[in-house]
Amino acid sequence: MNAFILGSQDVFEYDRAYSLLTRELGKVVAIARSVRKPQSKLAGHLDAPHFSWVEVIATSKGWQITQALEQLAYARIRKNRDALKAVLQCSQFLNVFLPALVGSYEFQHIVGKQQGDEEKVFMLWGDFLDHMELYAEQLNETDFDFIRAQCVLRGLSLLGFLPDVAVCNSCGKQFSARGAYLADNQLVCDACAVSLRAGANSISYSVLKTIQQIMSGTWVLKDHYAKAVTRCADYFERQSEQFML
Ligand SMILES: [Zn+2]
Repeated sequence: MNAFILGSQDVFEYDRAYSLLTRELGKVVAIARSVRKPQSKLAGHLDAPHFSWVEVIATSKGWQITQALEQLAYARIRKNRDALKAVLQCSQFLNVFLPALVGSYEFQHIVGKQQGDEEKVFMLWGDFLDHMELYAEQLNETDFDFIRAQCVLRGLSLLGFLPDVAVCNSCGKQFSARGAYLADNQLVCDACAVSLRAGANSISYSVLKTIQQIMSGTWVLKDHYAKAVTRCADYFERQSEQFML
């Protein structure tokens, strides 16, 4: 199968467990045996954020990688320290939030599924890497952390963790210039915030507008409210992480 390498974790003395993002199955965790030995031919093809062709077999202990060949190495991202940092941070985010497919039972269970959320996340990640690769070469200073935050927001939305950013989650009315308030990972209007006794955490209308633009599928390169949007993305990521635990 073809997969984005999201990350890896050392296991046993010479092995490594890789998180692979595939179009068909979502996240698959597979072990590469002896990959940390110096003579290993696999290792170079399994670095994040490579897109690689990977052969896996089902064993009694889960998936095992038998062959790998890099297809896309994202050379410009790898040469740009800030871009690489943002990409690896974002792949770590996906790795945490995506449920892993570990055994053949789940494999059989899932192959019957139609094009679903796995594919949407796969498409988002490919699109994000393509844009980061493009921006990494440009001379003007790109705010890579802002692009990462946009991927986090869209990823959280696809995975069902992000509240609706278009209308009040309580009364359903469109947000006005008075902005939105956060109440238990829900976004509510100012009137509902009062009746729900929501805390003082608010999102200004301008920031909300930028987030709505991001949700429509646009990568926003520059925005006056980039820092505030990034803070929002990090806030929702932390909140969602708590929800998962
Ligand atoms: Zn409301």
